[in-house]
Amino acid sequence: AALAGRIDALMRTVPDYPEPGVLFRDIMPLLADAGAFAEVVGALAADAPGPIDLVAGMEARGFLLAAPVATALGAGVVPVRKAGKLPGPVASQTYALEYGTAAVEVQPFTIPDGARVLVVDDVLATGGTAAATVELLESCGATVVGLSFLVELEALGGRAQLPGRFVDALLTIA
Ligand code: IMP
Repeated sequence: AALAGRIDALMRTVPDYPEPGVLFRDIMPLLADAGAFAEVVGALAADAPGPIDLVAGMEARGFLLAAPVATALGAGVVPVRKAGKLPGPVASQTYALEYGTAAVEVQPFTIPDGARVLVVDDVLATGGTAAATVELLESCGATVVGLSFLVELEALGGRAQLPGRFVDALLTIA
């Protein structure tokens, strides 16, 4: 609870970014605070459900969290990137956006069969990105053991897109 309060105090809430009507939660001041950054990385690692082989971070803020969480857990790191950013061969998973579709990609040869993977990102919003990432990683033979977020925007219902999954959030915003 103390950590949730610290995250809350260090986050910015930016109206109408990146589009009119969106209330954007900006975690950059938290990352820039040495003590808070170390604390959130430690908490994400401590909450991990059992041994982890790989930490998957979602582009781009997820990368900043996945890498230090991975070293804290003695795990490797796998970037989950937007389409076209990784040299192939890649595995790809498309998902629906409000208007149109997007795709996430990984390099499947970096994921050993049965690897226990923890997915890390900054914000769980509608859950579309996270659900597509789980599908993508499991299509590559991974076992996704859980997903960990700094912030969960509860009203957007992301958790419902991840049924039966271990979902950790250091701060939940109603
Ligand atoms: P979702 O697919 O709707 O759950 O959106 C999650 C993705 O969008 C994550 O990769 C987040 O980094 C990003 N995102 C959505 N809303 C916010 C926000 O308010 N602040 C920062 N990132 C956000």
